[in-house]
Formats: sequence, structure tokens, C-alpha cells
Amino acid sequence: MGIQTTLSVESEAARLLASRGRLKYSREQCAQLAELTLEINRLKKEKNAVILAHNYQTADIIYGVADYVGDSLYLSRKARESDADVIVFCGVRFMAETAKMLSPQKKVLLPDLKAGCSLAEGISAADVWALKIKHPGAPVVCYINSYAETKAESDAVCTSGNALKVIESFPEQEIIFIPDQFMAANLQKETKKKLISHNALCIVHETFTAHQIASFKKLYPQAQTMAHIECSPEVAALADYVGSTGKMADFVDKSLAKQFMVVTECGMGDLLRVQFPDREFIVPCAMCPYMKRITLEGVLRALLKGEHEIKVDESVRRKAMNALDRMLSVG
Ligand code: SF4
Repeated sequence: MGIQTTLSVESEAARLLASRGRLKYSREQCAQLAELTLEINRLKKEKNAVILAHNYQTADIIYGVADYVGDSLYLSRKARESDADVIVFCGVRFMAETAKMLSPQKKVLLPDLKAGCSLAEGISAADVWALKIKHPGAPVVCYINSYAETKAESDAVCTSGNALKVIESFPEQEIIFIPDQFMAANLQKETKKKLISHNALCIVHETFTAHQIASFKKLYPQAQTMAHIECSPEVAALADYVGSTGKMADFVDKSLAKQFMVVTECGMGDLLRVQFPDREFIVPCAMCPYMKRITLEGVLRALLKGEHEIKVDESVRRKAMNALDRMLSVG
């Protein structure tokens, strides 16, 4: 390694150490990661690429190489607005597919094709047809955690942040809400419309139980509880805030509490600790095995070798875009 390169790696390690000061990375770990992040950031410029990272990604990706970090809705918008030629999606496959549908002219890369999602895999286009046949006239609102073929059979897409708004945008009283059963049950409490749901669940959020959260609440009686809307209705009933990861930071910001319980994927707790160093976050952690398939090594391979390009059939894309456009117009 030449002197110039050694100096660059040292300054990159110092940058990582500064940006991760409140996380658990040591000086030695930052020095090890620096070579990778330096090369990824160099390739990003060379290839006019942008890296979008979901809130559940690990800190080395978030603070080392990501250009934008957020929930599905935020990242969908960034994918559309970006003028990059290449998008590397640090998230799961349905997110990369959504980015591709919103920006068909861009090359969208997913570092690991096994980064799936139990919700997206829990429903097929055939399941949607069956629901439509059983409930004629009911529009289909589809959570963004679904594959392109499912979105293509739906009338509107929504995220955890805007689901209620999208549901209320339809004049019909009966709405088919897919694929998340728990999310449908939580939304049912907020709307007068009748929601017909499917039976898919998030393997991460279904693990939290009301008994577990109640026990934590006894241990931390001062803490305010934030639960993702994919949790069961019993868990949601114990929370002070129920909704998207994107709005959890707003909730903390507006609250006077010093302690918060974060009932969602572990990565969110790390993000909030950095964002709010004066607050304490208790995280009854559950890790998403799909999200955590994305690594810096995978991101490097994506940029070097073009692994793995996401493609969506044009006729499916056009149909799914109607549903996505409806979501983006509702906001
Ligand atoms: S956390 Fe749940 S909904 Fe999110 S990607 Fe993982 S399995 Fe899918």
C-alpha cells in the first residue's frame, strides 16, 4: 500500500470513528472497515451511483457509505428524484424492485438476492385475484412490502407511514388490505371502513408478544413505548406510538420523555441512539435475517461487478405504477 493510500485509509478511519462515536465500533474496527468504505465511496463517484439504505441496515452501511437512509416511502421518493445512473439498494428485494419501477432508466442493484421478506413472499398475484373474486367492487390497497406482480393487481400501494391516508382516499366502504394481517388489524381500529385482510406476517414483528412488552414496561415504567404497525394488535395496544420507523424519530423529538422502548427491528434502536444521544432507548431486539444479508462486501461487489441487477417486466411495471402513483399522489 503506498503512502498516499495509507493516509487516505487513515483519514477514512477517522471519519468513520467520528460518525460512529456513539455506537460500539472501536478504533481498530473502523480502521478495518475504512479500506472497504473508501473503495465503495470511490466507485460510487466513478459510476455516478447512489446508495439507498433502509433504517434496519447495519451502522457500517448507514454511516460508511449510504447517501440516504430512511423508511420505504422516503427511499422510494429518493429513488425517483435521484439523477444517478446506478442505485445500490441496501434493503430487501421488494424495495429494490420498487426503486426500479419508479426509475426504469436507472440500473438498480441489490447486493444479495436472498434479501427477501416474509410479507412479500406471503402473497401472490393469484391470491389477490381470489380476494377480488370473493369481494367484488372492493379496491385493493397493497402494503409496499410486496413484489411487483402483487402491486400490479392492486389499486393503490401504501407504506406504514401513509396507509390510513391511502385507505381513506377511496370512496368505497370495503377495502381489501394486503398482505399484512396484523397491520390490517391495527388499521381497522383507526378507520370506519371494513378492511378485508390476507394472512401474511412479518417474521420479525410477530415475535414480539404482549407479555414480553408488558414485562419490559414494568422494568422501565418511565419509558414511552413505540411499536411498529406490523406488530400484533395486542402489542400495539400497549404502545404510546404505533406506526412507521420513519415517524419514530418525530415522536421522540416531540416527547419530553427520557426513556423509550423501541419495538421493531434492532437497527432502529442504533439509529435513534445516534440521533438522540441525550435519551435512552430500550430495544427488545428482533433481527431481520433478510435485511442483515446486506454487507459492505456485497455492496462493493455490486459496484464492481454489477451484482445483482433487478429487472421488472414492463407490462407488470406499467400496471404496478398505477398503484404506486396513487400512493405518491396521496402523499
Ligand atoms: S422486518 Fe419484516 S417486513 Fe421488514 S423486510 Fe424483514 S421480514 Fe420483511
